[in-house]
Amino acid sequence: MKAAVVPEVHGKWQLKDVPTPKPGSDQVLIKMHASGICYTDVHMTEGILPARFPNTIGHEPVGEIVELGQNVTTRKIGDRVGVPWVQHTCGRCEWCQRGKSLFCSEQIGTGVNIAGGHAEYMVAYADATQLLPEGLQYEQAAPIFCAGYTVYSGLRIAEPKPHERIAIVGVGGLGHLAIQYAKVCGFETIAITHSKDKEELAYKLGADVVISDGKGLKKSGGADVILATSNSYKATGDTLKGLRPDGRLVLL
Ligand SMILES: [Zn+2]
Ligand SMILES: [Zn+2]
Repeated sequence: MKAAVVPEVHGKWQLKDVPTPKPGSDQVLIKMHASGICYTDVHMTEGILPARFPNTIGHEPVGEIVELGQNVTTRKIGDRVGVPWVQHTCGRCEWCQRGKSLFCSEQIGTGVNIAGGHAEYMVAYADATQLLPEGLQYEQAAPIFCAGYTVYSGLRIAEPKPHERIAIVGVGGLGHLAIQYAKVCGFETIAITHSKDKEELAYKLGADVVISDGKGLKKSGGADVILATSNSYKATGDTLKGLRPDGRLVLL
């Protein structure tokens, strides 16, 4: 099969012919239909986040199950699935027992210590795969497995109450999803962006108000929850001017 291989830290990605992997016990083989590109791919390539090399990265993979390993009972051939970042954890450490498996030091992460989705096929733990709803296109599903999880986690952690106002800083890869999730969950949704050319998109995605900074946020009544998706600390810090008493700022 063809795979994008990162040969070494700081290395250039190479399109290579590599053996098609075989699913082990409790694993499935997935034929990739889409694999999202995330800025974390750059962080991993540049050694800012840990990864083994040579490596095939890609942690927003979606596709169709074409082979089952031994002991797989919950998935079948033909299932349309996506794979999240964390596939497997020890189940015994403090973090696993607290239900925060993301912090498990023994975790098997997609594209970290098991090959990721930038390839024609990938192997994944069956229980980690998530079934895709019928009618959802692969291309639309892929980014949900990182960007979507990330923003929805932030929204959940903030525990917004029904009357609260949610502000989203930044209308990019994360922010454009956060606006849609906040809106569809029924919250008054405020988009904060300095980019004039993103205003129209923010409204289209469901924002009730689009403003450019913390002063504007305060003037508009403030926010109970700020979901910070911008990579600018300056822009994020500035929005605190509009955070209401008892408000929560969540850094994504
Ligand atoms: Zn990512
Ligand atoms: Zn653990």
